[in-house]
Amino acid sequence: MNPEELGSNNKNGISGFYANGYTNGTSNGSASVVSGRSSGVALGLIDDVDLDTGDMPLPALLPESEKLPRFSSLGYRLFDANGNAVLTNDEREEMKRLAEEKMGELFDILRIDRNDPNSRETPNRLAKMWVDEIFRGRYEAPPKCTVFPNRKNVEELVISKGIGVMSVCSHHWQTISGTCAIGYIPGEYVIGLSKLTRIVDWFGRRGQIQEELGEQIASYLVELLKPKAVIVVIKSRHYCMIARGVNSEEDKALMITTAVRGSIAQNEAMRSEFLTLIS
Ligand SMILES: [Zn+2]
Repeated sequence: MNPEELGSNNKNGISGFYANGYTNGTSNGSASVVSGRSSGVALGLIDDVDLDTGDMPLPALLPESEKLPRFSSLGYRLFDANGNAVLTNDEREEMKRLAEEKMGELFDILRIDRNDPNSRETPNRLAKMWVDEIFRGRYEAPPKCTVFPNRKNVEELVISKGIGVMSVCSHHWQTISGTCAIGYIPGEYVIGLSKLTRIVDWFGRRGQIQEELGEQIASYLVELLKPKAVIVVIKSRHYCMIARGVNSEEDKALMITTAVRGSIAQNEAMRSEFLTLIS
């Protein structure tokens, strides 16, 4: 990671980026306990999948001259849709105020008459919704996660499944909704299962692509738990493929991704045990 990215996220220098690999989707799962790493993407039951990226070149390939500013017009540091920088209440209130104003402008552009009582307060609702709910994980500190010593030296898979995933895709800002299953083999620590739900939610409440969401969760658990292995499987529906684009059927369009760290990556038996248990 570029050390520059560890700095303050705003002009006041109030809050900074986290340095442990969850500022964006490109973390490297570097804890020493876990070495292997693999991941995969499977697209279930979709015939001709068009993962619409808008045909834009990847940002990394953009020449310097074509790059967009890294700071907002107010001087705030910008960061990836699935990154995190903790904001103060005042900063969030300012953000909502400004977003409401711009949402109102968008309504004008789309020629929506806000004398219609159903639309009157919608810019305000949208501003609150994006800052306080849908993008909440971008601006909030990580959930408090107490870990406990693995006193009995548990060396078997610990699995939590059916964890709700609610997110939006970075490409279209459409809902991603599904479930996540997490398995880990404890190393030094174990964790309460409800905390896994909070961690998934914290990463989900951002602009995401599913592949990176799974990677972020896996890397975070490696840092937090120092486990022998971690596997994260996400199955979800992407409404950018249902409400628009290829118009996939809602009950059939499933995207399945896995992110794996440590011994499960090499151990086929353990991997299939996990997949059987979560199915
Ligand atoms: Zn999308």
